[in-house]
Amino acid sequence: MININSHNINNSYNNTIHSASKSINFNAHSPYYNNYYEQPEDQNPNLGKTAILAVILQGIAMSLQKISNWCSTKLMQGKEFTTTKNVQKIANKMVKDNSLNVEVGYIDKNNIRSYTNRFGNVLGNELEIVAAGKNAFYTDQLKLAVAPKSKPSLILHELGHAINAHKGKFLKLLQKSRGFASAAPTTLLMLDGLFRNKDNKPNFIEKNAGILGFLSFVPTIIEEGLASIRGIKAAKSVLGNNANLKVLKRNYLFAWTTYLLAGIGLGVAAKQTFVQNKIEQKFQ
Ligand SMILES: [Zn+2]
Repeated sequence: MININSHNINNSYNNTIHSASKSINFNAHSPYYNNYYEQPEDQNPNLGKTAILAVILQGIAMSLQKISNWCSTKLMQGKEFTTTKNVQKIANKMVKDNSLNVEVGYIDKNNIRSYTNRFGNVLGNELEIVAAGKNAFYTDQLKLAVAPKSKPSLILHELGHAINAHKGKFLKLLQKSRGFASAAPTTLLMLDGLFRNKDNKPNFIEKNAGILGFLSFVPTIIEEGLASIRGIKAAKSVLGNNANLKVLKRNYLFAWTTYLLAGIGLGVAAKQTFVQNKIEQKFQ
């Protein structure tokens, strides 16, 4: 698999190779219903409890996904805070002031071909999603930032990512952490196995699987917020107080919320992994 770490404006349409929501696959964690109904659960009263917890967690995961979808719909329905020309002016300033070596593109169905010809083989259908006005992204490997022509203001957030990637090792580390965060549930389960208590009582990792899963995504949540703040600051510095920054901030808040929810979702997924493991052990 091609390892492209692209940074999308919202996490819901994020089908990217190696990006957060692909691994926090809410559907992938749904074997519980089958276990619950097909197995005789009254053999062991604890198993009944565990199965109910599994169902509840699955419900939470699905609700999180629904709220996230609602946020990204809101983001994509949001108005543009200023003209395309102004956005381009701000984007150019961000590139220039930070000496970014980044190609900036505004894509629609008329010019998508020039991008798919060059990047289609590595980016898959990512570009189509942008052309359709449903996402924007930055990839540090390709040094490419793109936004839909119909929603140019999303580019300011993506250039915020470009600046983060450019400014020092720590921010870059935050950015890269998302690739590892998605492995948190299985990593935690593995660590739990290594540090199991002799009496088989739940250890720290098992007890705190949810919060630990969430914490693994916190660097991503911070980096996402920082990218937006950079975009908003640049808009302010170019347009001054005339800019309708309220609209931009509102749009970016919806985008950021999808990442916050993904973090909570990762916590739930980590918890689910442990619950599922417990159910499987009972039937061994
Ligand atoms: Zn982002």
